[in-house]
Amino acid sequence: MRRNATDPIDQQKWDAILQGDESQDDRFFYGVRTTGVYCRPSCKSKLPLRKNVEFFDSAEQAEEKGFRPCKRCKPDLSEFDRANPLPDQLKKICDLYFDDRSRLSIELERLDIHQNRLIRLFHQKYHTTPTKYLNGLRVVKAAINLLKQTGACCRSLQNVGSAASRVSIALSSSNMDRHRSNTAGRDQKLPS
Ligand SMILES: [Zn+2]
Repeated sequence: MRRNATDPIDQQKWDAILQGDESQDDRFFYGVRTTGVYCRPSCKSKLPLRKNVEFFDSAEQAEEKGFRPCKRCKPDLSEFDRANPLPDQLKKICDLYFDDRSRLSIELERLDIHQNRLIRLFHQKYHTTPTKYLNGLRVVKAAINLLKQTGACCRSLQNVGSAASRVSIALSSSNMDRHRSNTAGRDQKLPS
């Protein structure tokens, strides 16, 4: 249900937007229905018309409603996000369960965050997507297994490298690599 346009709380928020009030950043966000973009209250972008504005308590809420983060004020990458423990938590989950897909998906669900946002946070910190990171772990594990199976000796790094590249070629034709290789794509699924 849409709030009444004269709601006093909404009016306060609108005033904060008009004033570019940075103290309100992270307290709420606003989406512009005509552009599908959401912003922080202090965003320096052109002011939208009041009637096109929708308020959200969090970036997640805005994204769940289908809004994209503004490229100028980056409402998805706030101070809070920089101190956000989620990328580290996700990395730890990947490190522990990269070869146990069912446990992996259980742990990922427990993070309880919109997956596009989680992927972006991870990418911001580690400059790779969770899927690529997981695949890297799986390639190394597979390379080690291959060396064990073939009885090759681990003393030589060259052995590991050539085994890894063989495994990598095998993986690239498998469905494990079905995810698009673009950066932190909005439509990308969390790894499985
Ligand atoms: Zn903005």
